[in-house]
Amino acid sequence: MTQSIPMMLRDLHAETIKSLRGNLDWTFDMNDVLLPIADAAGMIDEKLVNGRDKPREFVLGRNVQTTCFEITEPEVDDEVKTGVMEANMASVLAKYRESLLERTKHHLGYPFNLDLDYGALSQLQHFSINNLGDPFIESNYGVHSRQFEVAVLDWFARLWELEKNEYWGYVTNGGTEGNLHGILVGREVFPDGILYASRDSHYSIFKAARMYRMDCEKVNTLVSGEIDCRDFKDKLSLHMDKPAIINVNIGTTVKGAVDDLDLIIKTLEETGLTHDRFYIHCDGALFGLMMPFVKLAPKVSFKKPIGSVSVSGHKFIGCPMPCGVQITRLEHINVLSRNVEYIASRDATITGSRNGHTPLFLWYTLKRKGHTQFEKEVQKCLRNAHYLKDRLRSAAIGAMLNEFSNTVVFERPQDEEFTRKWQIACQGSIAHVVVMPNITIDKLDYFVNEFIEKRAVWYENGKIQSPCIASEVGNTNCLCVLHK
Ligand SMILES: *Cc1c(COP(=O)(O)O)cnc(C)c1O
Repeated sequence: MTQSIPMMLRDLHAETIKSLRGNLDWTFDMNDVLLPIADAAGMIDEKLVNGRDKPREFVLGRNVQTTCFEITEPEVDDEVKTGVMEANMASVLAKYRESLLERTKHHLGYPFNLDLDYGALSQLQHFSINNLGDPFIESNYGVHSRQFEVAVLDWFARLWELEKNEYWGYVTNGGTEGNLHGILVGREVFPDGILYASRDSHYSIFKAARMYRMDCEKVNTLVSGEIDCRDFKDKLSLHMDKPAIINVNIGTTVKGAVDDLDLIIKTLEETGLTHDRFYIHCDGALFGLMMPFVKLAPKVSFKKPIGSVSVSGHKFIGCPMPCGVQITRLEHINVLSRNVEYIASRDATITGSRNGHTPLFLWYTLKRKGHTQFEKEVQKCLRNAHYLKDRLRSAAIGAMLNEFSNTVVFERPQDEEFTRKWQIACQGSIAHVVVMPNITIDKLDYFVNEFIEKRAVWYENGKIQSPCIASEVGNTNCLCVLHK
């Protein structure tokens, strides 16, 4: 990791590939190394819109197994064979690296910022850094990075306006762990609470409900993907005897919709739930770190009656391995934690051992970029998202872009190869592109031009009508023959 990805891509120019080819044993096909893909929201393809293509077989485990690099046992004391094996391993890894570069180049669908340069941290990769236990209570294991972790947490607590001595949090393994933790804190504060989450919430919220055996009310959404507070009010009034635990989406996975936090709080108050009868967790996996830098956008703040906020660290921030941040109020954590003698720390986290490298990556990025750079990157994403939406619409392709969002929603491509090439996440009849900082206008043009070309084939130059997506994006955003 001594170079940025764009530089590596440049280096991977044809010449390099040719000379590489000469030196290595290329006995397997490039397709063997292509990474298997999955849908962002974990959705299984039900049926392609016009039924012309067969739905993709989605058998968990099978995709990976057909392309795995078998582990053969090393030969004991055979230098020749060991040499051959080492050469083979080097060639597998080189080839894998090349496929990663290729896959990185054509990536549009998932909200990962692939624009990184973490060269300075490569010197630390040989250490087994582990922050097991509580970030604020040093365990007996000394190879940790708590000094960096706590600095990162301080930064986020400040961002969301919670005093240093009033917050607790930790660097998680991703947005999912943050959600599992946030909902757990809510459940521990209100053991008989009902979980309310909109239908468009990330699947990890419903997983939390199953894991914790909580009663869960799924609340309807508006066409934008935002929670429908009228339905929320109706569902709340069914359980006025129970406290409420609410998941609020700061950017939904598929449509990038931001739930109206202030309206949710108002709805709770109007329904008669006092502040000591509800707990709000904010799932800000992607957009939680973008919204603070969008002018005029609503604000997530602990000055409002919320209990926790989580984000992913590998999405907007662009950490090269999954991670995230969870921040909650210190008062809640005492309900949850247990002291553990074996690690000489407090146990208030979901996992035991915790990645000690990710706080370093987060610290490095926050320190290097700061508010100013984040603000610039967010502006660029939003500008480019508008550009993509406008280009699609001027090519008569229906598209939706929520206010303050960088997620452009449009019709699902009709062919799996195209979807796979661009790693587009699909759900039902729609697909999206999440415009991240590493996605340039050039790349968007390349994508749109290819989409237009392919559509001409799929829809036989207009002889076949493109599908209506009005139920997903609304009449004004759909450009099918009915809604044009
Ligand atoms: C991506 C995402 C998550 C899950 O985050 P991971 O880091 O992938 O675990 C949760 N909620 C929302 C809204 C997301 O977009």
